[in-house]
Amino acid sequence: MRIHNFNAGPAVLPREVVLEAQAELADTAGTGMSILEWSHRSQEYDKVRGDTERDLRELLGLDASWSVLFLQGGASLQFAQVPMNFATEERPGGYVVTGVWAEKALAEAARYKEGRTLWSGKESKFTRIPSAGEWRCTDELAYVHITSNNTIYGTQWRELPQTGSVPLVVDMSSDILSMRRDVAGCSLIYAGAQKNLGPSGVTVVALRTELLQRARKELPSMLAYATHVNADGIYNTHPTFAVWLMGKVLAWLKRSGGVAAMEARNRAKAELLYGEIDRSGFWRGHAALDSRSWMNVTFRAPDAAAEAAFLEGARARGLVGLEGHRSVGGIRASLYNALPLESVAALVAWMRAFEQARG
Ligand SMILES: *Cc1c(COP(=O)(O)O)cnc(C)c1O
Repeated sequence: MRIHNFNAGPAVLPREVVLEAQAELADTAGTGMSILEWSHRSQEYDKVRGDTERDLRELLGLDASWSVLFLQGGASLQFAQVPMNFATEERPGGYVVTGVWAEKALAEAARYKEGRTLWSGKESKFTRIPSAGEWRCTDELAYVHITSNNTIYGTQWRELPQTGSVPLVVDMSSDILSMRRDVAGCSLIYAGAQKNLGPSGVTVVALRTELLQRARKELPSMLAYATHVNADGIYNTHPTFAVWLMGKVLAWLKRSGGVAAMEARNRAKAELLYGEIDRSGFWRGHAALDSRSWMNVTFRAPDAAAEAAFLEGARARGLVGLEGHRSVGGIRASLYNALPLESVAALVAWMRAFEQARG
């Protein structure tokens, strides 16, 4: 049975990349060894890392003013590392709280009184992204932190906000390289790889190198961004396999037409699924219409029993990973770059059949 993988992360990878990795694993790049056995200081790994960084810079539009790091600890460590490096009690980080991941990021800053809520969607059940007039960023802030796509609730910033001279920090874990984004107004971007970039185990951090001048000095070495930048991005052992595979995903993305082509594909997938949700009134979408995510589509059936039956039938048809996040329930379809349109078509066909049987 063909599997349609709607997992939220780790998530679907391009099939051809998985097969390529399989074919190259035992004897990678003619070294007589697998990538798993290479030194992270070898010439061969240097090339892998260099190519991966080059493609990432090209696809994200990062010029020489940015440093790019491949770190570990997930986006969750970035929740703490950002305030540790840049926030103080006098100059706190400002947080636009659009979901649970943003709440967690704020909590890490708030632990040392270094975080401030600029807006929270908690009372409206995180169904929407605020408009520009609903929150303000003021000059005493060390930075403004946003979550570009809210993986759990299925909401997404269509445009990144303008924060003037205050650095903008963006958790792009679940929509990096899924649509064109102007990074000109950003100062730090981070993303766990396991949604749109590759396997779990590596976190991409891109920051404007000049930002380091404002960074706190007295930190454990591993937690100071400067340590990694000053070591030319390779202070300690890299997650070499994850970086290698991410490089293959980026090469696939480039030969598939780049970010603009991904955006067109992702938009088509999202429109197909939202079109079905809106068609009859049987399904209910969670997100407000103008805040809908193209990456994670969240919706409900009329009741919990119907949801359970829908999910069970989905599994029987090879449609996996559709359970909503444990904190919200319902149904969530993650439509990351590597998910083909046919998978969404298969989901929509099952939604129709289910509705006809029940409706
Ligand atoms: C998945 C996710 C995280 C958490 O990532 P980890 O790598 O598990 O730490 C953080 N933020 C967003 C937006 C996510 O989607």
